[in-house]
Amino acid sequence: MERRQFIQKAGLLLGSLWTFDSMAAPTTYKVLRGDTLSGIANKFDTSVSNLKRINRLKSDRILAGQSLKIRETIKSALPAAAAQEIDGVPIIKNKWVHIVVHHSATPQGGAKSFHNTHLRRGMQNGLAYHFVIGNGTQSGDGEIEVGPRWEKQQDGGHVANAWFNANSIGICLVGNFQQHWPSPKQMDSLHRLLSHLKSSDQIQANLRLFGHKEVKGAQTLCPGKNLNLNVLHKNFNLMAG
Ligand SMILES: [Zn+2]
Repeated sequence: MERRQFIQKAGLLLGSLWTFDSMAAPTTYKVLRGDTLSGIANKFDTSVSNLKRINRLKSDRILAGQSLKIRETIKSALPAAAAQEIDGVPIIKNKWVHIVVHHSATPQGGAKSFHNTHLRRGMQNGLAYHFVIGNGTQSGDGEIEVGPRWEKQQDGGHVANAWFNANSIGICLVGNFQQHWPSPKQMDSLHRLLSHLKSSDQIQANLRLFGHKEVKGAQTLCPGKNLNLNVLHKNFNLMAG
């Protein structure tokens, strides 16, 4: 198999890697003879003033062979309505220091049914997570549902560790990723949500990401072997803080 084909195939299998990579604009460019700053700005859908600011250029003069930064860091935006819903609540400044990613370990579900299940289990505030990302069963594929604990800025109930629950944003992707893969749309939404939260000035700058099983003392396979945490961490580190 040709290398390029292989990479495409591997990317599709990895899902998350491919999705994120395809969203990511190139971050650097090597200047060729005859290039102008405005030409490069056009080519990469940015502006001359942006390029000058990022690269600390005092004039429009560039040299062949020079390496230019095109974007500062990878940042992919949430749809405006979702961003509005998340930012429309008064976020308690610096309360959130970690994010914990879960799978539901069920083939189907959504915020409403998990809320009822968690109420029945005796969790006073219902839905244990702050956000649920649907798989097309009870909400849209990749749809981000904002839970009441986010709206009220309440502690989560998603890990067996009181300190973590008080300080961590819980995100649950619907599905059992021991058995199935997260959908590309779910991973796309997860990346966008993580990027949005990481760049919020109401949230700790040194926000750390965990898969549930990476939380100290957790006895779980969550979020499942098919949600590649190595790739997720790599992508999270590339996001603007
Ligand atoms: Zn979990």
